Amino acid sequence: MHRESIRRCSRCILPETWPGLRFDEEGVCQQCRHFERRWGPWLRDPEVRARARRTFDRAVELGRRYRRGRYDALVPISGGKDSLEVLRIAREELHLECLAYTYDNGLMTPGALENIRRVTEALGVPHVFDRRPEQKDLLRHFLRKTGLPCGACFIPVVFGVHRMARREGIRLVLWGLARRNESTMPVGKDPWNFRDVVEDGLGLAAIRGIWGSHPVLDYGLDRLRGRLEVVCVPDFFEWDDDEIRRRLGERFGATFDGDHSDCLGARTMEWAWYRRYGFGAPTAVLSQRIRVNRITREEALERLARLEPPELPPSIHAVAEAAGVSVEEILAGADRDQTPYNRSLMHWVAEIHRNWILGR
Ligand SMILES: [Zn+2]
Repeated sequence: MHRESIRRCSRCILPETWPGLRFDEEGVCQQCRHFERRWGPWLRDPEVRARARRTFDRAVELGRRYRRGRYDALVPISGGKDSLEVLRIAREELHLECLAYTYDNGLMTPGALENIRRVTEALGVPHVFDRRPEQKDLLRHFLRKTGLPCGACFIPVVFGVHRMARREGIRLVLWGLARRNESTMPVGKDPWNFRDVVEDGLGLAAIRGIWGSHPVLDYGLDRLRGRLEVVCVPDFFEWDDDEIRRRLGERFGATFDGDHSDCLGARTMEWAWYRRYGFGAPTAVLSQRIRVNRITREEALERLARLEPPELPPSIHAVAEAAGVSVEEILAGADRDQTPYNRSLMHWVAEIHRNWILGR
């Protein structure tokens, strides 16, 4: 298909090949509509921001009051700027007793590891690495089956965080997911897709320590019973990426090499997206920049023409080596038909939730 002939949202530049994308009568996609509903008032109205901040402060207070162990909050950190900034805020501005937690997905960059060491040491925050013997098998399996490293990470991280919060009696989890700034993804964080991929040749027994008996049910019940509160901190603060990079650099000597500098697999992911859907990460990143009024749609289209199609990233060799697969196997994985993994009823429930409720 020629790029010029692809229909795009009339506000952002997401193409019709984005999974689940719908256009309304004005040709605007549901992600743009959802963004406007969710963040429009927040961006325009200081009173809305003040109210959101009070909601956040209440969640923090409850986390402090109802902790069942030593810590007020669990802060998952990847070594990237957003999660490290959340840790800084939690410790320096909110004065919380924090436990920092990292799920090692097998693709952490040396820069991310160094950032974690620097920031946790300087803040005096205890830090736990969750390093699982199953992870390399999982990574290899997902690369072979899907061409994407992400499946081996998204769900295990969420369940790993929950396990750690339970173990330490922590009620409050402070995530660094910057949903207002960060681009959306064409693949959801869907536990049923994860399970179906694992069951195709690996088997759930191989990941028993990650998956547990009823991980989704346990997670949902803890949320319902008020034993677990999950907060995306960047939702409640001004979140200027350049300013955050500069501050973490000056304060801790942390370094960040472009977007997603914490994961070796980031470029491979973007490349696999292009191969599968006909668009790469720049399409999603530039669309989000249009929504937050950082650039115009015309500028975005102009930049996109220079950034896509992406070339096969050199880092794919390092990804292959870390996972114990060949680059050819990853390429074959990216071309595999994914529909067998998206057939379960619960997958459709997860997709409807993502597209209609989260709007992402
Ligand atoms: Zn749009």
